Amino acid sequence: MLLNNPPLAPSLPKEGDSRMAYVGRFAPSPTGPLHFGSLITAVASYCDARAHHGQWLVRIEDTDIPRISPGSEDHILRSIDAFQFDPDADIIFQKNRLNLYESAIEQLHQHGLVYACQCTRKMLGSNHIYQGTCRNLNLALKDQAIRVKVSDQEICFTDRLQGRHCSNLQHDLGDFVLKRRDGIINYQLAVVVDDYLQGMTHVVRGADLLDNTERQIWLGKLLGYPQLQYMHLPLAMNDQGQKLSKQNMAQALDLTQAQQLLQQALRALRQPEVELNSPAQMLQQAVAQWNTGLIPHSTELHGIYL
Ligand code: GLU
Repeated sequence: MLLNNPPLAPSLPKEGDSRMAYVGRFAPSPTGPLHFGSLITAVASYCDARAHHGQWLVRIEDTDIPRISPGSEDHILRSIDAFQFDPDADIIFQKNRLNLYESAIEQLHQHGLVYACQCTRKMLGSNHIYQGTCRNLNLALKDQAIRVKVSDQEICFTDRLQGRHCSNLQHDLGDFVLKRRDGIINYQLAVVVDDYLQGMTHVVRGADLLDNTERQIWLGKLLGYPQLQYMHLPLAMNDQGQKLSKQNMAQALDLTQAQQLLQQALRALRQPEVELNSPAQMLQQAVAQWNTGLIPHSTELHGIYL
């Protein structure tokens, strides 16, 4: 059966420097301004890359146009400046790269690994595991949702903080959507294609994305991309025990308080104290002291009061 064939050879030309042993990134979605939880991810991904003498890139994940909130892209860019992060390349915007994601779909299509799906949300009802209703219907791809085939096998990886994590995508999820009927490219596809094209080796991000990882590993495998190393950080929780997120109105980072916020983010990551200084100097000290062994191996960080 097709899904057991050897992986495809990557068809898109790589943009990143493949000689680098460590390339990491911060990849926010502009669905709201950055908050303290986003800062923890930015700081950890930055320090981890720099402590490994690696590169650190910023990518704006703005394919889901209806969810973009006005002004948030600007707040992200101003935050990068205010905290004096120094990405190693120009910031890229996924909305300018839709042709690359389409090429990846095309490549999968040529090998029979994707198909069009006409099921509506209503037809799928409350069943969260897609049963493959349209898998063998051979519908034309145009103006339909596109799903990728998954198979009945365990996909596992060992997270640097969270340990071993596995999923059988067929049992847990079913064939999943890469492109919606309205033409929007799904995050899972864009992230995998860009991580490959930018030569990424390491992903450091919030534990809310832990359960997405097997999907991304599966897609990467089908497209012939090398597997990444993952570190999923515990999520900052507010004093009501909810994770800080745009949905529950986490406060936007106050860019006039960059030094204090940096210090608090490093404390949340249980790193050694850094002196209040310019953000660039604070980051430099944090990189020199960076110790992932001190970050809690949990998915939640409590007791953070801002
Ligand atoms: N864009 C995603 C978010 O803001 C993060 C993607 C990733 O780090 O893989 O939640």
